[in-house]
Amino acid sequence: MRTHLTLGRLLGVPIGINWGVVAVCALLFWSLAFVSLPNVAPSHPTSAYWFAGVVGVITFMVSLVGHELGHSYVAQRNDVRVVEITLWLFGGVAKLEGEADDPGAEFRIAAAGPLASGVIAAVSAGAAALVSRLDGNRVLYGLLVWLAAINVVLAVSNLLPAFPLDGGRMLRSYLWRRRGRKGPATRIAAMIGQVLAVGLVVAGLVLGFRMSWWTGAWTAALGLFLFAAARAEWSAAQARPELLEETVERISRPLPEPLGPSSSVADLERALRHDPRAPFVPLVDDRGEISSVLVRESIRRVQPANRAQVPVRSLAMPLVGLPRVDPTETVAHVVDQMGRGSDWWAVVVVDGSLTSVLCSEDVESLLELATP
Ligand SMILES: [Zn+2]
Repeated sequence: MRTHLTLGRLLGVPIGINWGVVAVCALLFWSLAFVSLPNVAPSHPTSAYWFAGVVGVITFMVSLVGHELGHSYVAQRNDVRVVEITLWLFGGVAKLEGEADDPGAEFRIAAAGPLASGVIAAVSAGAAALVSRLDGNRVLYGLLVWLAAINVVLAVSNLLPAFPLDGGRMLRSYLWRRRGRKGPATRIAAMIGQVLAVGLVVAGLVLGFRMSWWTGAWTAALGLFLFAAARAEWSAAQARPELLEETVERISRPLPEPLGPSSSVADLERALRHDPRAPFVPLVDDRGEISSVLVRESIRRVQPANRAQVPVRSLAMPLVGLPRVDPTETVAHVVDQMGRGSDWWAVVVVDGSLTSVLCSEDVESLLELATP
């Protein structure tokens, strides 16, 4: 069963809504139309409260999308693709494809959401002040104040340094920068996240019994959810030394379609643009065999104006001279041979024919997961 409904796209990102949001919207509508607004702006017709309640719920959802679009915009600017934004019970989630590959980018992506909420809060508060000065409608004033307040709550609660909340991600990026590695930083941040989540559950219980059962239950539920999320991140970040026994075959990259002997450098450029992770494109010779490759860096040797005329043949690198790994070799063995920290790739050849390519980047990210 589909858990959510797709509403549309913004900045190229699909926006979905989870059914749990319906419950949150009903609660917010009730608290706005029956409690907050009649308090702030008494003696208005019920229909005015109801109308403002509906507008409030819609603007709240728009604020959630605004928060997630903040993350998405900065993520895209840092070359992290955003798969989808989903609104659900506790707010929004921008689902990213992969993670930022440096701590600075992670920090900026995480900070952008609360910043967006802060901006929405400031604009709403400014509008409320204006309505008040102009002696405008009190229901509208109440609505704007409520919108400002809920966005402050959204920004502040997301800034809690409890991984995987935004504040926790900012904490992780700080630890990551200081320690130089992401794995240990994630484990520490996710541990702090679990401790803070337990704190939230306890705070929720105390609040529930002492003040308002409703705020207490909500806080405790948020704590439980956060605990589960932090726990999952913590387990996923544990070192998995068995990964060193993975074979080259399992982590090597597939090759792009080979180019023919009559292709031009412009064709090569297109092929590599189409496949940005490929370090080279195989080249078929006159006998129909792949005996050489066309390396990405070699394109620079040909002036852009000449690329459509110059044949790729002039850039071919014979297969025989290239570093080579066996598909059944283990990653541990490859690391012994190639060392760590440098940038390299090696062709994977089976029975004399080129099948895939192993890139140092993929070996490094596997080592990151394998070692504590
Ligand atoms: Zn966020």
